[in-house]
Amino acid sequence: MTQIETRNLIAGDWVDGANTIANVNPSDVSDLLGHHAQASAAQLDDAVAAAKDAQRKWWAAGIQKRHDVLMAIGTEMMARAEEIGAIISREEGKPLAEGKGETYRAGQFFTYYAAEALRQIGDQAESVRPGIEIDVRREPIGVVGIISPWNFPVATPSWKIAPALAFGNAVIWKPANLTPASAAAVADIVNRQEIPKGLLSMLAGPGAEIGQLMVEHPGIKAISFTGSVSVGRGIAAAAVSNMTKVQMEMGSKNPMIIMDDADMDLAVAHSCNAAFGATGQKCTAASRLIVHEAVHDAFVEKLSAAAQALKIGHALDEGTQIGPAVSEGQLKGNLDYVDIAKAEGAELICGGGRVACRTEGFYMAPTLFAGTRNDMRVNREEMFAPITCVIKVGSYGEALATANDTEFGLTAGIMTQSLARATHFRANATAGTLMVNLPTAGTDYHVPFGGRGSSSFGPREQGQYAVEFYTSVKTTYLSGGNPA
Ligand code: NAD
Repeated sequence: MTQIETRNLIAGDWVDGANTIANVNPSDVSDLLGHHAQASAAQLDDAVAAAKDAQRKWWAAGIQKRHDVLMAIGTEMMARAEEIGAIISREEGKPLAEGKGETYRAGQFFTYYAAEALRQIGDQAESVRPGIEIDVRREPIGVVGIISPWNFPVATPSWKIAPALAFGNAVIWKPANLTPASAAAVADIVNRQEIPKGLLSMLAGPGAEIGQLMVEHPGIKAISFTGSVSVGRGIAAAAVSNMTKVQMEMGSKNPMIIMDDADMDLAVAHSCNAAFGATGQKCTAASRLIVHEAVHDAFVEKLSAAAQALKIGHALDEGTQIGPAVSEGQLKGNLDYVDIAKAEGAELICGGGRVACRTEGFYMAPTLFAGTRNDMRVNREEMFAPITCVIKVGSYGEALATANDTEFGLTAGIMTQSLARATHFRANATAGTLMVNLPTAGTDYHVPFGGRGSSSFGPREQGQYAVEFYTSVKTTYLSGGNPA
């Protein structure tokens, strides 16, 4: 397969970095995608200086220009969904259909925010003092830093870059080091538009180095981060001490309740999809299945059968439903959690180990545990693995209390045919995103997305709500004086 050597995009030009690291296909460790350059601190300074200049020109260019550029980016992404999706699949291990779907969705974020760039936002008010008018407008923040994870390497940065540009900002983006080639494809599409040089810079590198420098950089006025809670806590602390605006979407431990009145086949299909889709490497994955005792045994039996029927394989192979873990380290962590669950007394129903495929990769069987308690580590900590745990409960009340008993709160779901339970769940579940008779994973692009508790910090992402983070409010009092 062709090699993809990736450089950093600094101030409009693709340049080498301080050193390079190898990009290996997790479906086939003999397939080296290429190498990618690691940015230096000096390159970050260059990128920020260019971004400051580009941002002023971009804001001055006006809303029609911003609309047109975002529409062109989104349209190209959608047209190239297959090609860029294949890059995602090759370097991250996501089955091709999901990689393609992710790229198409990323394009939709750009076309959606193209339209948002045209929306008239702001307020007009009368002053309590006669003869004075007041207007309240939104202006860009300036240079925004975006730090993104590997699991949605194209969609996540797109849902940040698109509103950042739509509302007149410049962007410094640090993608995850495991997914540089798909990141470079996105950056290249943006950079080929008729935009001020350096409006978007992309710098790869270890989070603790280049990411940390971004958070501390005085020229970067806001940081939008998606990643793990532990990294997020450090970023929040640094951002607050620098008075940098911050927005963070992080991990979770999403519950899905299966009530005794649920449509059983639908509950099994949605649980299987939410738990094992994308190899469980989704912040919205259902990793706690809270099941009413009346349907528990039938549910476990059917879900086990569904999990074992999933086709595990090379992400680019036709028909693959579950690809590999993203890296050897991720796979090791997953297998450690299997041992932890067993040691805590969980009953392994299916999976639990590595799987051999036609190529050597980081494959693991979808894994189901039953007989788990909500206080076990596998039900407290985010695993980011194709592992899900069943917790048996005796009533709706117990199910809800168990679902809410977590430090996280990104998504939560319920499978029920009872309107009373569904509406009570909507009012009382303590997550930021709820799903009724749907998988916990799978959201739209035109409405806000985010969580509560340790899952989120700062203003919401996506939809019209994104304006809150990517703009700063200015209130102007205007007195006309004497017209004579
Ligand atoms: P991660 O926290 O290890 O890394 C995320 C990004 O932060 C990477 O680009 C990384 O290089 C960078 N980083 C690491 N240390 C840093 C530091 N000290 N300063 C600045 N940047 C730093 O997460 P990951 O392993 O790439 O992704 C998986 C995590 O992302 C999971 O916890 C998952 O739940 C979360 N996630 C959340 C959402 C959401 O919307 N809530 C979406 C996708 C993924």
